[in-house]
Amino acid sequence: MKIHHLNCGTCCPAGGRLFDGTTDGATGRLVCHCLLVETEAGLVLVDTGYGTREIAHPLPRLSPAMVALCNPQFRTEETAIAQVRALGFDPADVRHIIITHLDFDHAGGLEDFPNAAIHVTAREREVADQRRGNVLVGTRRYRPAQWDGLENWRLYPFGGGEPWHGFDTVRDLDGLPPEILLVPLAGHTWGHTGVAIRQGDGDWLLHAGDAYFFRGEIGGTYHCPPGLRGYQALMEVDRAARLGNQARLRQLAAAHGDSVRIICAHDALEFDLLAAR
Ligand SMILES: [Zn+2]
Repeated sequence: MKIHHLNCGTCCPAGGRLFDGTTDGATGRLVCHCLLVETEAGLVLVDTGYGTREIAHPLPRLSPAMVALCNPQFRTEETAIAQVRALGFDPADVRHIIITHLDFDHAGGLEDFPNAAIHVTAREREVADQRRGNVLVGTRRYRPAQWDGLENWRLYPFGGGEPWHGFDTVRDLDGLPPEILLVPLAGHTWGHTGVAIRQGDGDWLLHAGDAYFFRGEIGGTYHCPPGLRGYQALMEVDRAARLGNQARLRQLAAAHGDSVRIICAHDALEFDLLAAR
């Protein structure tokens, strides 16, 4: 299975290196790291970033507070549908979309692929429809206008499959090859999952969504810029679960970093390294 790495939404939050750890300027650079996977079951997207509808009318589709905080750049060429076309594919060939969670910066492109089946945990769909979260972000993070016109959902229990490297899994995703599985990683949201993909050489790619935000949280000497630490604390629904899962990802990276590549949704350097290949 060939995997394409797509940035479906550059964000430039005020604070520079307080957010991305490297920038010298006033604003940082974060990405929305999505995957486009070529499979025998058609094209599969993992997360969708921001879509054409956010770009046409960011407000009130998104929360003004979240737009001010994240400062997304709303570039048409970064939408998943534009990049699918640029790669020479027909957007209608995107048959499946796996969503790590339904936050505004992951679900924006869903409606650009109205015929694709959407795979997500039932728990995530439930809390997103209820717009649950803490009092500051519950209604701001989940924006049902991003998915309320879509009907082709595949909802899964939160775990129950055979374990993978000590993590719970959801396997046998409806219509998808067995090399793709969900890995429940609660904490950022209640129904949040990672997506593990077994590649042709037997190695795995684990897209951990927003289970962590900065490479230093799972590898090397622990480090996370203060802005990203604050953002994760603002958005979390279960701190113990979130930090526990980060610790498990750290252990996985240390023990099996040679055969499991772990990425998150928003680290620009992780994205640049893989996109350059
Ligand atoms: Zn996110």
